Amino acid sequence: MAKVNRMFNRKRRGHRITFLMSRDGANCSICHDLLDRHIHDYHDPRYITFDHVVPRSDGGLDHLTNLRLAHQQCNNERGNDPIHVFDEGIELED
Ligand SMILES: [Zn+2]
Repeated sequence: MAKVNRMFNRKRRGHRITFLMSRDGANCSICHDLLDRHIHDYHDPRYITFDHVVPRSDGGLDHLTNLRLAHQQCNNERGNDPIHVFDEGIELED
């Protein structure tokens, strides 16, 4: 079983990003702007992070079926809200 995200080495991280981009597209799953996988500074707000669909605090797994890509800043702002609650918030702004 995988450990926490920060334990991933760069090669494994790259493989996961490639897999998730081919499955979901190269856009942030939260703000839907394009992701730039050439940003390697994790202090950059646009650094690519692995967002948990079901938060780990709710028992979500560090498995690709429970992960999607998001900017560092977007992921931080979302926190541990369940994804359906967050998506409803977005729709209310239309
Ligand atoms: Zn984003």
